[in-house]
Amino acid sequence: MDVYGLIGNPVGHSLSPPMHEAGYAALDIDARYVTFEPAPDDAALAVEGAAALGVAGLNVTIPFKQDVLEAVAADPLAERIGAVNTVVFPGGDGRPRGYNTDAAGVTRAFEHHDVTLAGADAVVVGAGGAGRAAAVALADAGATVHVANRTADRAVTLAADVPEATGGGLATLDERVPAADVLVNATSVGMEEDATPVPAELLHAELAVLDAVYAPTETHLLRDADAAGATTIEGAWMLLFQGVEAFERWTGEDAPVAAMNAALRERLG
Ligand code: NAP
Repeated sequence: MDVYGLIGNPVGHSLSPPMHEAGYAALDIDARYVTFEPAPDDAALAVEGAAALGVAGLNVTIPFKQDVLEAVAADPLAERIGAVNTVVFPGGDGRPRGYNTDAAGVTRAFEHHDVTLAGADAVVVGAGGAGRAAAVALADAGATVHVANRTADRAVTLAADVPEATGGGLATLDERVPAADVLVNATSVGMEEDATPVPAELLHAELAVLDAVYAPTETHLLRDADAAGATTIEGAWMLLFQGVEAFERWTGEDAPVAAMNAALRERLG
């Protein structure tokens, strides 16, 4: 039996175990997916320990996504984003390899909703881990990216790492969102409270809006976007496709997307 897992702190409420185990069941793969909660400074130790124990693959979440970079050979995309959320153990003496599947989570969520990213004007709100993954992914897919963040300096720094991107404070949304084709909320606003980082009056019917926040599934931003006639994409799709991409890297099989989505949706309610 293969063991896959997630390292994070905390990981108690993770939806990844049921999502991945539904995938193994659908493809008749003999595997389990478990969660591990190392101490906050022990990212590299956890990866070494998992390799020693023969763990087949790891997902990585807060607060370890940056620190794990030191313990793996990161692929160029993960290196550019500066964060790893998926580790593949090649076996033998091979160094663990690190990937960032949050980026594919963003692009595959849009593709699944028939949104064209090539040539699109995209606005990413947020410049943390999810914002970095979204900005790099959208630029690689051919979009022109503007990053808006509460702390404007972080948006400017991120934009400097992304080809042709610009960055600024949240006030830049006033000008950018009305002209945009694609909008991603990559802040945590909307998770704990019924709030939105984007004023409703800026939203419009030509926009496709992905909210990375997945709990609640229907956020304040997505309600506003729906009322404006925009295409709405729940964060659950990003969560699903980052998992799908990790599953495919680990197993080499096309992931059973419908089965994984059903398991996720059952838990999200
Ligand atoms: P992070 O690195 O901590 O970044 C948090 C971001 O939110 C920063 O840009 C921060 O701005 C901004 N922010 C926080 N509170 C704010 C407020 N009150 N007003 C305006 N901006 C605020 O977190 P992360 O890992 O990027 O995650 C961000 C969100 O994405 C979380 O809700 C997470 O659950 C979600 N996420 C979803 C997926 C998925 O698969 N669906 C994957 C990854 C993350 P400052 O820089 O100014 O502090």
